[in-house]
Amino acid sequence: MKIYMATSNRHKIEEVNTIFGNFADIKAISDLIENFSPEETGSTFIENSVIKAVTAGNIIKKPVISDDSGLCIESLDYFPGINSARYMEGFTYKEKMESLLEKLKNTDNRKAYFACAATYFDPEKNILISCEEHVNGKIGYEICGENGFGYDPFFIPDGFKNTFGVLPAETKNSLSHRYMAFKKLFELINKIK
Ligand code: IMP
Repeated sequence: MKIYMATSNRHKIEEVNTIFGNFADIKAISDLIENFSPEETGSTFIENSVIKAVTAGNIIKKPVISDDSGLCIESLDYFPGINSARYMEGFTYKEKMESLLEKLKNTDNRKAYFACAATYFDPEKNILISCEEHVNGKIGYEICGENGFGYDPFFIPDGFKNTFGVLPAETKNSLSHRYMAFKKLFELINKIK
């Protein structure tokens, strides 16, 4: 099965392809639509994920999957949340993480989670499936490692001592928010096939 993923983030496509390459051949929507970047006007991960999938599916007239994800830090009232990509736009992730570490400097509550909403939309059969999963962890005291992308170098998943930036890709891909959300999504798609 070939399926397009409605995102311009190549890291997400790479991760989902690595995890679920056996189930589907996941292609980038940029192969079909130039500069795909619909306005994310939703107030939840699910809403924004649905916006991406429905916008792309209606343009290409083929089934698509999408992902909307982000980092939620408990003591910052779950900030940056759905604004994870837009937070301090134009700055590097190192600068974004340094700024968040500064905000956390007077708190011992380092609890955080990554959330991922995954959506499947088939415009011909009018099928829309969406689900959301989290991986719990904490924000470390320093930025560490080169693996992964985005906020990975300061997020330590529960049960581990190192950040996603240090842990091997196989470890992240076996427990991440993206793994959990797409696992569930593909199970649900299978049920209706
Ligand atoms: P989106 O494109 O609006 O879904 O933005 C997602 C943003 O959340 C990314 O650009 C990253 O900043 C952050 N994010 C989501 N998933 C991950 C992850 O697996 N690792 C690190 N950062 C992530």
